[in-house]
Amino acid sequence: MTARRTHEDEVAAVTFEHDDESVVVIVGSGAGGGTLANELAQKGVNVVLIEAGPRFQMTEFVNDEYGAYDLFTWKDKRIATGTSPVAEKFREAPTWIVKAVGGTSVHWAGQAVRFQPHEFRARSTYGDIPGASLIDWPLSYEEMAPYYDRAEYKLGVSGTHGTPEMPHSNLYRVFAHSARRAGYKQVSQCPVAVLTVPRDGRNACDQIGFCMQGCKSGAKWSSLYAEIPAGEATGRLEVRAECMALQIRHDDRGRVTGVLYVDKAGRRHLQKARVVCVAGNSIETPRLLLNSASAKYPDGLANSSGHVGRNYLRNMFAFAYGIFDRPVTMHRGYVAPGLVRDEAGHDPKRGFAGGIYFTAVGLGLPYHAAFLDPGAWGREFASAIEGYANTCGVVVLGEDLPVPSSSVTLHPSEKDGYGLPIPVLNLDVHANEFPMRNYGLKKAAELLEAGGAKRVIECPPMPSTHNLGTCRMSAEPADGVCNRWGQTHDIPNLFISDGSQFSSNNAGNPTLTIATLAVRQAAYLADQLRTNSL
Ligand SMILES: Cc1cc2nc3c(=O)[nH]c(=O)nc-3n(C[C@H](O)[C@H](O)[C@H](O)COP(=O)(O)OP(=O)(O)OC[C@H]3O[C@@H](n4cnc5c(N)ncnc54)[C@H](O)[C@@H]3O)c2cc1C
Ligand code: SF4
Repeated sequence: MTARRTHEDEVAAVTFEHDDESVVVIVGSGAGGGTLANELAQKGVNVVLIEAGPRFQMTEFVNDEYGAYDLFTWKDKRIATGTSPVAEKFREAPTWIVKAVGGTSVHWAGQAVRFQPHEFRARSTYGDIPGASLIDWPLSYEEMAPYYDRAEYKLGVSGTHGTPEMPHSNLYRVFAHSARRAGYKQVSQCPVAVLTVPRDGRNACDQIGFCMQGCKSGAKWSSLYAEIPAGEATGRLEVRAECMALQIRHDDRGRVTGVLYVDKAGRRHLQKARVVCVAGNSIETPRLLLNSASAKYPDGLANSSGHVGRNYLRNMFAFAYGIFDRPVTMHRGYVAPGLVRDEAGHDPKRGFAGGIYFTAVGLGLPYHAAFLDPGAWGREFASAIEGYANTCGVVVLGEDLPVPSSSVTLHPSEKDGYGLPIPVLNLDVHANEFPMRNYGLKKAAELLEAGGAKRVIECPPMPSTHNLGTCRMSAEPADGVCNRWGQTHDIPNLFISDGSQFSSNNAGNPTLTIATLAVRQAAYLADQLRTNSL
């Protein structure tokens, strides 16, 4: 039995007045903001969710990589500077982020890996690495564990909490066989936020593929159809789509009082608030705080430490294709099965700090062609494309270290369509990343060749899909922007509720941790509101 849900079933249950000072206003409806909104609504808190992008129906998703990219992507101009190859190659589009209800959780692949315990203690574990602005998180894995359990269940992570593992696609089989032949032992299906049995109005995965183009069955978790309709059904959540937050306002005491935003028709509104939570992803979150500068806060909100916008993280990300002499058909089935954990720990003998994972990825032909760079055009390139059906993709994902100069700032003169200064993303790579990348790509090639690949092609960099760390948590107010609950050190009723909170990164994908932090923050925030502590 399946339980297909479309947005036609959903009702905009409630509307709040603009001068209602009792509501929590959340900016951004993605993995962080959408989850927080539902969790708060379930706890009886009234929420206004302001989202810059439109609200899509599942029926509008297209199994076309470029078509979906066009539909979803945040294309407002950003400028990249700095020494990173990503900045050099993608001067005006260094990030890959969605502008829509559901945020980038509409587009993501769904890989849902927990942080390892030592990754919450990066500074203590890796020591003082010159050039890195590492700190420990002000919370531990043990504190996060029960919230990880809850988030995994909510997201429907296959292979956990009674949800069966994903079936083995051919891509998985080729990848797992190759990894084992290369000597790796910790080879498994990747835990993914994709249901293998129907639950909570979402279908089981039908293994057709094109998962990143929007999952039409709802098997892959997205706040668009998993969190937000559930929150609306409580009668306590109002979603305002196509509304761009321009500025957060505060009173004379310095407490935030509301959010100025512009709606689809170009009308400006001030939504009053008891609490404001910012979840615009790691470029727009610091940008909004910086754009909210005032006479009282001339450097932007919550920025007494000067850390707003700094310590940007994106993961070390490298991609290799192996071409076999028989079909792999990587485009068939769920897009990113397979995980090798053997190299995920911290082992300085390899010549770098932090760990790496290998995952299998099966892209469609358009992305395959776009991300391929066999070193030359002509026959070299054409033969790689001809090998598509026999190709297996492997992503090497590693922990990147924070660098203070990797940062989001406001452009001094250029403005966007809303009249706001556009963000400038300066991307510098810590030296730790180069040996990590070389090692990871060498091992990826060995893995593919062990399985029988006849040719391995390393791919050039691509825009950042993981964007983190620009308003980080810290034990000491001088080292970051918010505390262990995401509450800003400077302004108690202003919260950071997305991946910007990350104190440091992990070797794996971030979004399970973003959702987990949202679940945890909702529990804290609801309690603070109930006891009138805010
Ligand atoms: C192709 C792709 C594949 C990915 N695969 C994985 C994966 O397998 N595993 C994984 O863990 N992660 C993956 N990610 C990353 C993952 O999607 C993000 O980490 C996650 O969605 C970030 O959550 P967030 O809440 O920080 O921001 P988002 O989900 O991006 O949400 C931010 C929202 O805020 C809105 N917004 C921003 N500014 C404003 C404003 N001023 N006013 C109103 N609204 C605003 C935006 O429109 C957006 O909807 C992938 C990303 C991409 C692009
Ligand atoms: S393969 Fe599964 S997760 Fe991917 S789009 Fe289809 S149903 Fe969704």
